[in-house]
Amino acid sequence: MHEMALAESVVSIAEREARRAGAERITSVRLEIGALSHVVPEAMRFAFSAVSRGSLAEGARLDILRVPGRAWCHDCGREIEISALGDACPACGGYSVQVTGGQEMRVKDLEVA
Ligand SMILES: [Zn+2]
Repeated sequence: MHEMALAESVVSIAEREARRAGAERITSVRLEIGALSHVVPEAMRFAFSAVSRGSLAEGARLDILRVPGRAWCHDCGREIEISALGDACPACGGYSVQVTGGQEMRVKDLEVA
């Protein structure tokens, strides 16, 4: 489960930000997860609560924002939204689709106390 490694990096990013702000603990973390990122939100929640134990982020609320998959269709020349890699263009049904966004996962912001 690669979410464990991702959760570790989320916790370390959050801790670095919290220390920089002089905070004692992290109360919530907002994560953006692209629809094409292969990160499973439920697995991420589980991994986060396991990995954050004993850190500044222990007990923090994890908010997950889903970011849609974006792509460019070469057949009809449009920017489109797709929900999975390999999807056809919803406008023309073509498969000459190049992914342009929605593959990333990032810490959007956090609240500290
Ligand atoms: Zn198209």
